[in-house]
Amino acid sequence: MRKSVIAAALLGFLCLGSSAVFAQVKGIYWTTSGFFGPFPITGLIPTVPKDKQRDVTIPVSMWIIDHPKGLVVFDTGNNVAVSDGNCKSYWAAGFCDFLKPSQKRADVIDEQLKKVGFSADKVKVVITSHTHLDHVGNIAMFPKALHVFQKAELYQGWWPEKFQGRGTPGAFVMGDLMPAREFNYLELEGDYDLFGDHSVVILSTPGHTLGHQSVKAKLASGGTIVISQDAIWMQENLDGYPAGLNFSIQAYTNSVNRLKFIRDLEGAQLFMAHDQDQYAAKGGRWYK
Ligand SMILES: [Zn+2]
Repeated sequence: MRKSVIAAALLGFLCLGSSAVFAQVKGIYWTTSGFFGPFPITGLIPTVPKDKQRDVTIPVSMWIIDHPKGLVVFDTGNNVAVSDGNCKSYWAAGFCDFLKPSQKRADVIDEQLKKVGFSADKVKVVITSHTHLDHVGNIAMFPKALHVFQKAELYQGWWPEKFQGRGTPGAFVMGDLMPAREFNYLELEGDYDLFGDHSVVILSTPGHTLGHQSVKAKLASGGTIVISQDAIWMQENLDGYPAGLNFSIQAYTNSVNRLKFIRDLEGAQLFMAHDQDQYAAKGGRWYK
């Protein structure tokens, strides 16, 4: 009797063990919705000292996460209307002149999904880091998906503080949000384990905006990756020069530190949203 109890317990333990083995994503693809630039790095990070200043041409990072329970997109890039030199038909002229988006129609998320063998209507979940124009641009392409935001970020997007620019030119574009108003939203207040298996964990990383969020994922190879998006734009932010655009510099600093600790304690790879050199070395590929 006792033996069978032990055997049952052991079996249960082994089953738990094997389910943990499958608690990983099948693959994660890093792509970009074209590039911004070139422009002086001080346009984004004003505190970079003279001897470290350079012109940068930065990616507009988007991520495709292939999970056994469904296809996930993390950020949808610039609105499709910005493609092929038509920026000023959709964004404020000042943004177009400064950012110089290179986005072609083929760079947009629906085409990027096709490129790696998926169609936009198969996407189950769209996670949006925040409601700035280079991250939330194409949520309207996913009417059947569940959209995951921090609840605070929805408030942020729909009614930014005045100092963040409510009108023109602003980094919040009503046209990105308006067509998606009646979609299904998972409105979070903090971290969230998306599939309940620890494989895709949404991390609350406010500061850049009121409700910014990042993603941590477990790869089939056993590695962990942290996708910061705009919680950390690029290497200079890791080097201690803060981003020049923040809702709260205190919250921003805490979020940068939080992601650094996760990177160091879990031995994770950290990917940043707008780092020219990191994307050149590691973008446009699958992580498995
Ligand atoms: Zn951005």
